[in-house]
Amino acid sequence: MNIAFFNTKSYDQQYFDQFNKGHEITYLPVPLNERTASLAAGNEAICCFVNDRMNAETIQQLKAFGIRLIALRCAGFNNVDLEAAARAGMKVVRVPAYSPYAVAEHAVALILALNRKTHKAYNRVREGNFSLERLMGFDIHGKTVGVIGTGKIGALFAGIIKGFGSRVVAYDIYPDTALIQQGVTYLKLDELLKQSDIVSLHCPLTPETKYIINKDSIKNMKKGAMLINTSRGALIETNAVVAALKSHHLGYLGIDVYEQEEKLFFSDLSETIIEDDVLMRLMSFPNVLITSHQGFFTEEALTQIAQTTLENISAFEQGKKLANEVIYQPAGAKA
Ligand code: NAD
Repeated sequence: MNIAFFNTKSYDQQYFDQFNKGHEITYLPVPLNERTASLAAGNEAICCFVNDRMNAETIQQLKAFGIRLIALRCAGFNNVDLEAAARAGMKVVRVPAYSPYAVAEHAVALILALNRKTHKAYNRVREGNFSLERLMGFDIHGKTVGVIGTGKIGALFAGIIKGFGSRVVAYDIYPDTALIQQGVTYLKLDELLKQSDIVSLHCPLTPETKYIINKDSIKNMKKGAMLINTSRGALIETNAVVAALKSHHLGYLGIDVYEQEEKLFFSDLSETIIEDDVLMRLMSFPNVLITSHQGFFTEEALTQIAQTTLENISAFEQGKKLANEVIYQPAGAKA
């Protein structure tokens, strides 16, 4: 099958070339959006990642160019207008799981680094500054950690955190009985925010979860608490979080995802003027740690992403049942 891969980096090409058997892949460095959709001409499928914008206009153009399949090389599908894809008769497939360990472990890495200020200590020592002033952290043991969304990643995260000897509380629309048996307590969202010293977001971005952390819900958080987001940027109302950091209500912020990451993350912009004032403000806080959507970025995850995406594409080509299809559910329809 001829496939246009949008938004590709050297590592995508490396892993897909390793596992590709027979598909004709064109690797394009540009993101997919309504201005670049024409680059898909001559292909039957496109393959995209988290920040490609598959809105109705892009999908309409893709249909005109003969695209029949959108293969997402990621789990989240919040960036695809599923209704428009269904209208265009296009199938959408994804990689529902690729090393959930990678993201859960990265969330823990953010917590540890923010708490013990490892990134600052590293720089200090390299410059011959062996002072401990302002590097004070806290024991994670004995603290309460709130997990919002206890699916594959959230459940693994909860398990790692339990290993620290922390109390784990959780919020999910579908509580996991296995986690309850392991001692995790499900609470209402407000109660979780009130009780947690650390809150980590692991739910998907949906209309219901957009801005789940907003100016009102932040008020419920403990003063000085730590907020971690490795899920999707728009779970957090960024301006509200900036205000909470300025007022010292929020003690720490660790994010791997950012509401406006689309134009920034995954690119080397070190020699350019970054115009996003909100991100620059976030970067100015000493108690904020930002990584650029690298939670998934392990060898194991890239292997699974390449293998599953290519299997999804082959299954479509061969007219087989699509195990990883994302099916459009009209509002009000039963899941
Ligand atoms: P999952 O589908 O296994 O789990 C999601 C959980 O969220 C489910 O238990 C679900 O019931 C819960 N949920 C759904 N709506 C909710 C709501 N309104 N309130 C509370 N809980 C709700 O997904 P996963 O594999 O654990 O991934 C979680 C998210 O992690 C993905 O949606 C994606 O956004 C993000 N992710 C980030 C990276 C990264 O590199 N940073 C990589 C992969 C996934």
